[in-house]
Amino acid sequence: MKNQNTILITGANRGIGLELVKESLVTGLNVIGTYRNIKNSKELIKIKSEKLKIFEMNVIDEKSILEVSKNIKKPIDYLICNAGINNGFGTIFEDDHSHEKMLEVLNINVLGCVLTIKNFIKNLNNNAKIILISSVMGMQAHSGSSATIYRASKAAVNNIMVSISEDLKSDKITVTSFHPGWVRTNMGGPNATLSAKESAESLIKSFLNLKFENTGKFFNYDGSLMSF
Ligand code: NDP
Repeated sequence: MKNQNTILITGANRGIGLELVKESLVTGLNVIGTYRNIKNSKELIKIKSEKLKIFEMNVIDEKSILEVSKNIKKPIDYLICNAGINNGFGTIFEDDHSHEKMLEVLNINVLGCVLTIKNFIKNLNNNAKIILISSVMGMQAHSGSSATIYRASKAAVNNIMVSISEDLKSDKITVTSFHPGWVRTNMGGPNATLSAKESAESLIKSFLNLKFENTGKFFNYDGSLMSF
């Protein structure tokens, strides 16, 4: 039997988020996809399915998140904080690491997850799963320093994931983070090892296998446990 649960995916208009939408629909899930800008969302808009609802939402604009929260009818079983940016490659000594750009990465990647989770908490179903899309680049043990603040943002994502998992333990809500693999998207670039479809297929399977005992943990896209 097809899975009738509801999944909400942020940053659903392109890259990994768009493929998560498509794979969720294949699995039978009801899908709520959010996009920041209609102009960049042509492929998402083209998907015709009664099971897909799309909403405009910027993860760092609380009003826009609340608006979506008010307008969704079904309780959410899987809340996927996927939206993210890396506008700062190189080291902190390079121009890409201006104060403004560093704040933007931290704001969208970290606070975007916090604001999304805070405002959708009332929409969550019993035993819901919250998944933050993190990265292997957030691991403390790493060599190389490119994208210093992006790395820091994903380390913070894993850290807030643990805190939120503790906060929601008594409600039996599972909170985890996932590395999606190195994926051929605008962010991952053309040399990445996985297509967005391969990453999303594997991620959806892993999300559907999550159990409450997994709360507070960081996983690879294939469901194997990762260290922080
Ligand atoms: P893309 O750059 O292809 O897509 C990023 C998505 O995030 C877009 O939909 C974008 O929307 C959205 N987004 C950015 N800022 C906001 C915002 N303020 N509000 C709402 N949506 C926003 O990246 P990927 O698909 O590759 O990345 C998805 C996630 O996976 C990110 O969190 C990334 O850090 C993570 N990741 C990716 C890896 C890879 O190899 N690709 C590796 C490890 C982690 P818009 O079109 O409006 O810009």
